[in-house]
Amino acid sequence: MSHTPRQPFLVFGAPMIGDEEIAEVLDCLSSGWLGSGPKVDRFEAAFAEYKQAPGAIAVNSCTAALHLSMLGAGLAPGDEVITTPLTFCATVNAIIHAGATPVLADVDPVTMNIDPGAVAAALTPRTRAVVPVHFAGRPCAMDAIMTLADEHDLRVIEDCAHAIETEHRGAKAGTIGDYGCFSFYVTKNVATGEGGMILARCTEAAARLRTLALHGLSRDAWTRYRDDGYKHYAAVEVGFKYNMMDLQAALGLHQLARVERNWQRRLEIWERYQDAFADLPLGRPAAFEPGSRHGLHLYTLLVDERVCVTSRDAFIDAMTRRGIGVGVHYLALPEHPVYRERFGWTPDRVPHAARIGRQTVSLPLSAALSDRDVDDVISAVRDVLDEAARARSSHAPHAPGARRAA
Ligand SMILES: *Cc1c(COP(=O)(O)O)cnc(C)c1O
Repeated sequence: MSHTPRQPFLVFGAPMIGDEEIAEVLDCLSSGWLGSGPKVDRFEAAFAEYKQAPGAIAVNSCTAALHLSMLGAGLAPGDEVITTPLTFCATVNAIIHAGATPVLADVDPVTMNIDPGAVAAALTPRTRAVVPVHFAGRPCAMDAIMTLADEHDLRVIEDCAHAIETEHRGAKAGTIGDYGCFSFYVTKNVATGEGGMILARCTEAAARLRTLALHGLSRDAWTRYRDDGYKHYAAVEVGFKYNMMDLQAALGLHQLARVERNWQRRLEIWERYQDAFADLPLGRPAAFEPGSRHGLHLYTLLVDERVCVTSRDAFIDAMTRRGIGVGVHYLALPEHPVYRERFGWTPDRVPHAARIGRQTVSLPLSAALSDRDVDDVISAVRDVLDEAARARSSHAPHAPGARRAA
């Protein structure tokens, strides 16, 4: 190969950590207060304000947020919950952990979000909830989903792991359904290492989830370690250990303060990619829906082997050899053996998600990328496709040249 790999390797989804985060973490360490405390309170208040929500509950992951929200939705064994096949395992695991049965509804091939028509077709008398995932940060068709939910008395739990900045027709993602669940995992738009947040429309439900997040202890238990002395605590539910630490909130506070600036930077990168790849035989993300806001969490291309000459997996290997880290979001859930065995799911039942899952590749989109990094990503993509086309024409001398099908 003639190309020299980029040095250093461009890590996919590298977080951007500023001096403010570092100082806040040091402050946390020197205060001796590492667990849930004043910084978590501040982070919850800041997040609620950002989302224009009455309150927010910080937890230690989006998976925990989803699990608690499923419990808040009052699911029982035998209940069915409809979700998208184009998501991370955590979405469906949370449904299963709550004792319910997940049911898949295929995505819209253009938006890659759960198709409300497919949700309607998947309804049964046992359906109790819908879990839309705002894939890549693009808002789901929440009007149609909420209409179905009203008609069929369903709870709606928004998986907002990609959707901190997302808005659907003026409404902020996570405030439209009954619950909104956010992730602050290292690769997400706000990163605390591990971390998550829940928005709940009903204040009583929110209070219950707060209790469940800390062993099922009554509200007072949250303050029992604070500076006003020892207090007895009472377990009122069989809860979980899902609380966020001040160490994590120390990162989140300053990540959140920069969230809009980072979004602007990702918009620049997004637009450069959209322009740079316009003449290539790759599938690019659909245009933004007017009046809504894309969270710009993932920039995903589709590599269709029939027109790109290279397969998606060969494309990934070639990018990696050039020093560019990429991701796959996601293989459709029925591709995973555990769900196939447990629920009998097959990829052909969700053909759009299955095709996307086999063709999709995510390029670096972190606000930490320099213009040079973006140039490197763009030239690597062009180079990989050129090389594939050249290899095809040299291996097939009778083929009509290295035709790059449009
Ligand atoms: C990252 C992610 C999750 C899980 O988030 P954690 O904070 O790692 O638990 C859930 N759903 C989707 C769509 C995700 O991308």
